[in-house]
Amino acid sequence: MIRLANKELCSGCTACASKCPHRAISMRRDRLGFAYPEIDMAACTDCGICEAVCPFQGHAHRNSVIEVYAVRHKDMKQLAASQSGAAFVALSDVILARGGVVYGAGYGEGFKVVHGRAVSPSERDAFRGSKYVQSELGTVFAQVKADLLDGKHVLFSGTPCQVAGLKSYLHSGGKLYENLYLVDLVCHGVASPYVWRDYLWYLERAYKHDIVAVNFRDKIFGWHSHKESFKFDDGSIIYPRFIVYKDCFLRPACGNCPYANLNHPSDVTIGDFWGIEQTDLRAEDDNKGHSILLCNTPQGVKLFDSIKEQVHFHPLAMSTCLQPNLCEPTRIPRSHLLFEKLYRRSWFVAFLKVRNFPSCLKRFVKHVKQRLL
Ligand SMILES: Cc1cc2nc3c(=O)[nH]c(=O)nc-3n(C[C@H](O)[C@H](O)[C@H](O)COP(=O)(O)OP(=O)(O)OC[C@H]3O[C@@H](n4cnc5c(N)ncnc54)[C@H](O)[C@@H]3O)c2cc1C
Repeated sequence: MIRLANKELCSGCTACASKCPHRAISMRRDRLGFAYPEIDMAACTDCGICEAVCPFQGHAHRNSVIEVYAVRHKDMKQLAASQSGAAFVALSDVILARGGVVYGAGYGEGFKVVHGRAVSPSERDAFRGSKYVQSELGTVFAQVKADLLDGKHVLFSGTPCQVAGLKSYLHSGGKLYENLYLVDLVCHGVASPYVWRDYLWYLERAYKHDIVAVNFRDKIFGWHSHKESFKFDDGSIIYPRFIVYKDCFLRPACGNCPYANLNHPSDVTIGDFWGIEQTDLRAEDDNKGHSILLCNTPQGVKLFDSIKEQVHFHPLAMSTCLQPNLCEPTRIPRSHLLFEKLYRRSWFVAFLKVRNFPSCLKRFVKHVKQRLL
């Protein structure tokens, strides 16, 4: 049975809970809203299946990069609605055109970040744009399997750990599905769902209106900028600083990520083409967005071949587009432990009210540490 020595060893991928034949595992949220497996000892037979599928227990499913490209969609509307160069739209359009199914992260009630299923471009559009909070997977792995067994072409998109979890769940020891396409992201880490929930709660009270739209990185100030936007029901829009995506709000396992390198579990990896201004493509950087796209398997090369009509693309040398999370995991600050221990909506909101939130948080953590020692 799965035993977590510490939180750095679980990405919350749900492979163990989805695979357990005795339904003995449920996903329980901690104080920050990150889900971890909880075992019902009465139902568990200690069969070991949960350990066998855990991507953090040595089953990492790593591929190596075959080809790398700078990619940008030809449709400027798709570009504006996507986080980088709209590579995801182009890739998922291929699968939808085959009558297939696309899985990705969208919004649920109250802008909770949840994984969903789409069979049309309008449903898929909800997955465009990055949500820098960990998405809830629910029973998505079982749905993916049902679609695959139904003979449908399926594209699953998510963070590398979610893709690794799905692969473990589907293939543990068995053969790959030929109709499955896996797309993951260059990933800095996923932030706390409860910090996100409480941040929205605070904004609605502070501005005395309901939020009707959110954007984690609004391109209105250009692709290179990092500003969130929130639209209220009176039509007003605010652009606060990028507050939810602080490293101390990230999941502890992100600091121990086995995929923050060039060995991703997916067929295709997409990310922002940071550093474009230092390459031969600098003249094409109009601040509207460019993606990098890494083909990691022959299946990925095939999928990329099928979008070449829809995108502008240039082959790249890997060395020209390396960025921190293609080399190493994000370092999670030690203040995270204290932050988690003390987390309450009330004090988080109290800090949000103070203008200089990050440095106040630092000072507060230092102060508490001194008092504890
Ligand atoms: C948590 C997170 C961290 C990231 N960190 C980096 C980074 O450090 N460096 C970098 O270059 N790029 C990073 N990205 C990727 C980048 O922001 C773009 O998503 C990527 O470049 C694809 O852009 P696009 O225009 O092709 O597609 P978009 O239209 O922006 O497609 C979004 C894709 O991301 C998926 N997605 C969105 N939110 C989530 C989520 N919460 N969990 C799982 N999947 C999600 C959707 O399912 C969809 O496949 C990160 C993305 C996320 C979600």
